[in-house]
Amino acid sequence: MSKTLKECRIPPKKRELFLQMGIETSEDLLSYYPFRYEQLQCKPYDEWKTKDRIVIEARLITYPRSFRFKGSRTMTKFQVENEDDVFDIVIFNRPWASKMELGQTLTIIGNYEGNRKITAIQYNTKPLNEQLGIQPVYSLKYGLTQKNIHECITRCYETVRNEIADDVPSEYIRRYRLLHKRDALRMMHFPKSNEEVAQAIRTLKYEEFLKFHLAIQLIRKQNSESVLKEGKHFDFDDVFRLANHLPFPLTKDQVKAVNDILEDLQSQKIMYRLVQGDVGCGKTVVAGLAMYACCLAKKQAALLAPTEILAKQHYQSMKNLLKSTNLRIEVLYSALPTVIKKDILERLKNGEIDILVGTHSLIQPDVGFKQLGFVVADEQHRFGVEQRRKLIEKGDKVDFLLMTATPIPRTLANTLYGDMDITTIETMPAGRKEVKTVLVQENSFRHVLDEVVSKIEEGRQVYVVCSAIEESESINVRNVLTIYDNLKKAFKGIAKVGVLHGKMSSEEKEEIMREFDKNEIQILVSTTVIEVGVNVVNATLMIIYDAHRFGLSQLHQLRGRVQRGTEQGICYLLTDSQDENSLERLRVLVNTNTGFEISAEDLRLRGPGDILGTRQSGLPAFLLGNLVEDTKIIETTKKDCLEILQHAEEKENSQLIQKIVQLNMNALTTMD
Ligand code: ADP
Ligand code: MG
Repeated sequence: MSKTLKECRIPPKKRELFLQMGIETSEDLLSYYPFRYEQLQCKPYDEWKTKDRIVIEARLITYPRSFRFKGSRTMTKFQVENEDDVFDIVIFNRPWASKMELGQTLTIIGNYEGNRKITAIQYNTKPLNEQLGIQPVYSLKYGLTQKNIHECITRCYETVRNEIADDVPSEYIRRYRLLHKRDALRMMHFPKSNEEVAQAIRTLKYEEFLKFHLAIQLIRKQNSESVLKEGKHFDFDDVFRLANHLPFPLTKDQVKAVNDILEDLQSQKIMYRLVQGDVGCGKTVVAGLAMYACCLAKKQAALLAPTEILAKQHYQSMKNLLKSTNLRIEVLYSALPTVIKKDILERLKNGEIDILVGTHSLIQPDVGFKQLGFVVADEQHRFGVEQRRKLIEKGDKVDFLLMTATPIPRTLANTLYGDMDITTIETMPAGRKEVKTVLVQENSFRHVLDEVVSKIEEGRQVYVVCSAIEESESINVRNVLTIYDNLKKAFKGIAKVGVLHGKMSSEEKEEIMREFDKNEIQILVSTTVIEVGVNVVNATLMIIYDAHRFGLSQLHQLRGRVQRGTEQGICYLLTDSQDENSLERLRVLVNTNTGFEISAEDLRLRGPGDILGTRQSGLPAFLLGNLVEDTKIIETTKKDCLEILQHAEEKENSQLIQKIVQLNMNALTTMD
């Protein structure tokens, strides 16, 4: 049984902070796992080497003195004595350290700088021998310290320890020699050895994946059991005939995708399908043809885009694709003048609009359809379960199609999107070039200046991407506004420079995009607002500052902007990161252009949250499991999950299933 944090005697201030982190119950708090462990060993001074992490117990022998420098940063210095040795200690950003008393015994953990100098990371007045061994390290938020978290978790565990029940049925605990949950949590938060940590992780991972599979299977089951719809009537040939008007033949996989979707539309089962395919593989046409089919069956269709820019672009593409038909297409977004909006909503309700393209504003309660039959959401990772529900409620048994340009390998997709049918587009349109990507280990324009000038002289356009909009506290991160100012000066009389970021009004953004589209702007400095879908064929060069600050899939999306035509696109990744892992990650981009590989790497390194965003809301998150590396546990738990569902009447199984249903209420009521 889970208790509230109040019942666990967590002080109100801390409870508030935890609440902000989404931690409400003892169960939540106990699954706030350490993200790593530190091994504290005490070595005698004569074994210390420079750069060693050391720990020492010593007496304070000089008054601490604090110095203030740039911003609110401080540095505090003092000396301590241990047996016959005197050490110089420096500690940063602990101005209160100057309140210590002479003669006090301190335990100091820090880095040895050589010459009896230590840069302290932590100090406290607890005896050293109570602190040796393996220590959990939690990720810190909202000003909570390691000590705070450790104390709260201790209280919480003490309060509930005797009530922590196993979610995993005992049959499986026995079969795989797992720990009881109570012990696993203890070893996770208060381990005595690395061995204990490893055992705890093994058990908790098993539980995590088992619950994940169960949630997915339950949702799937519910979806397929839910009421049938009336199949949509239309002729496949009519749909493909429209494709014949396109200036290009569909690729093999595009044809397959269209077929998959048309079959779903015709069938009585409500469609819940994901089309995944790399940037530029041509998902828009697929969506267009599918919406056309829906209209042939005399139902309305909606296309949801993540941004206004993209919504307008899709609107244009749809008008283009469907110009030989008499379908009525409109676009809706929040910045539209009220009169126009009202008119659209009116006609939508009367069935005088066949296809509505739009942003999130389509989800608003005042948007009502006459007979909505089909919804396509582009770049699905921005839409959660909740949004999907809202949209589906606007029609009767609406078919739902999601599209993503962050494709993941098939086996992974089956696990992660187990509740959806999946179509994968792998073939790219013929003649499509790959963006050439260059990693520059310096965060400055110097290296790329010549390239930019020569592109401009050729009449091409350039994107410059920064991770921040304006100058911020975090030093050394390039920002859009400063770079914009600099480039404006540098390219005066040579090229017009524009700026685009999320804090601008939508009219401003629109104006800038229009100017860039017409080549009235040659260099566009922007944030990642251009990440998805923007299509300016003449822009063939991209410079990305602080590339290490972006996700790999995001960078892949970004560079996709400079390969819209036949001209070779080039992308420069600038970084001054010295971190070998970051550089390794960026080299993945230099070496491969395949979205599948890139997202697998992202998943391995950062977990699904970053990539999939809110889609999985309502489904258990992976706190410990790694989708790429834990394939064996994933397989095992999938098998066990099916077994549990087959024997749902057994007490422990049914308890677990009940719990999963409770936890996933949100996702599990979606189809009602
Ligand atoms: P994405 O899958 O990234 O959404 P788009 O649908 O925007 O890709 O397509 C990218 C570009 O490729 C568009 O200009 C589109 O007209 C073009 N395209 C789509 N399908 C084909 C094809 N079969 N052959 C050639 N070009 C195509
Ligand atoms: Mg697209």
